[in-house]
Amino acid sequence: MFDKNTFMSLAVLLFCVLKMAGTVSAQTPKDAVKTPEVFINTGFENASPMNWEADSAGRIILSLVYDHERFSQNRANNHWHFKVEAPVGKEVTLILQNFDNIWNNTHASPISKQSPAVISFDGKTWESRPTEYLADNRMLIRLKMTAPSAFIASVEPYRISDLDKFLAKIKTNKLVTITPIGKTSEGRSLEIIKIGNEKAPKKIFLRGRAHAFEAGGNWTIEGFVNRLLQDDAQSKLYLKRFCVYILPMANKDGVARGKTRFNANGYDLNRKWDKPADSLIAPENYYLEKWLHKMVAANKKPDLALDIHNDPGGNLHVSRPDGDITAYLANMAKLDSLLRKYTWFTEGSTKPGFRNPGTLGEGFMERFGVEAAVYELNYEWVAGLKKAPLAEDWLSLGGKLPDVFYHYFDK
Ligand SMILES: [Zn+2]
Repeated sequence: MFDKNTFMSLAVLLFCVLKMAGTVSAQTPKDAVKTPEVFINTGFENASPMNWEADSAGRIILSLVYDHERFSQNRANNHWHFKVEAPVGKEVTLILQNFDNIWNNTHASPISKQSPAVISFDGKTWESRPTEYLADNRMLIRLKMTAPSAFIASVEPYRISDLDKFLAKIKTNKLVTITPIGKTSEGRSLEIIKIGNEKAPKKIFLRGRAHAFEAGGNWTIEGFVNRLLQDDAQSKLYLKRFCVYILPMANKDGVARGKTRFNANGYDLNRKWDKPADSLIAPENYYLEKWLHKMVAANKKPDLALDIHNDPGGNLHVSRPDGDITAYLANMAKLDSLLRKYTWFTEGSTKPGFRNPGTLGEGFMERFGVEAAVYELNYEWVAGLKKAPLAEDWLSLGGKLPDVFYHYFDK
C-alpha cells in the first residue's frame, strides 16, 4: 500500500513529532556557547544598528551596519551609539568594525588614528577618550566599568527628543516663531525657527543635521539661539541688524534610526542641490526649497546661508559655482577672519580649486542667488582649544556666532 518513499517520509515525520514531544533526545551535543558578561544594548533613541558577539578572548566585536546611498555605491558608518551593560569593575574591550566606507564613489575609512570616542556613564555627562586604531579599519576601545552601564558614541549625541525639549523651551519667547514647513519622508515635522524681526536689514539662514551623525550642528545652533535670546543690550543690537531663520534638524529620520548620513530613502541631503529636489525621495530638501522660493518671492531672500556639518577637517567650505563670484569670495574671506577673531575656529577655508558640486552651499548660490557655504566642525580635534570636542565646545562656538554675523554685516 505504501511505496518506499512514502514510508521514509512517514518515518521522518514520526521522528520529528516524537522529538518535539521530547521522547527522542538529539544525539549531537549542544555547542558550548559561553554566556558573555557584557551585553550591548541598542534599543534606544538614536542608537546605531549593529551585530555583536564576544570572541574567544572575551572581547566584544561590534559590526556596524552601513548606511547606503540610493543610486550609488556610497556607504557610510560614522555614527555609532550604543550602551554597554556589564558588572561594575569589569574591564571591557570593544572592537568596532565595518568602517570601509565609500565616499563620493571612492573607498575611504572615516576613522583615523586620532578618532576619539565619547563616553557617558549616566547618559548626561560625556567625556572624550582616545581609541586605538587596528589594522583593517577597526577601532579598539578599552573601558573599565565604573557603573553598570556606559553609553558610547562617535559624537556627543543630540537626539530628536533634545530638539523637542529645546523647541518647547524657546517657543513662548516673543522673539521666536516656529513654523512647520513640511514633513520628512517618514512623516516627522520639519520646522523653521525664526528669531527676531523680519524688518531687520539682514537675514541669515542656518541648516543643521543634513547628515544624521553630525550632532555638532545642533549643539552650535542651540548655543547660537540661546545667546540671541539672552535679552541683554548686546542681543538687542544683534537682532536690530539681522533676523535669523533656522532649519535645525533636516534629517530627522536618520537621527531617529541611528543612521550615519542619508535620509530614509538613501538620499544625501547635501547633494544634488543643482536641481529641484523630488518631493517623495527628498522631501526634506523639497520643503526647504519651497520655503526658500516663498522667501525670495516675498523679497525676504537670506543675505547669508550656512549649512553646519561635522567632518575630520573642520574647514569653511567656500562655494565656487561658475560665474563671477568675486564679491562672494571677499565676503567669505571676511567671514573666515571673523570666525577666527570671535570663536575658536582656526581650521580656515577650503582653497581655490576645491569644489564640492551639488552641496547646499553651491546650489543656494546657483539657483537662488543666496550667498552660502558649508561650515564643517571638526569632530575629532578642535585645534583652537587643543582638545577633542564635546557639546560644550559647540555650544560656546554657537554663542559667539552672533558677534561674527554682527560684524559680518558691518558696512
Ligand atoms: Zn555632513
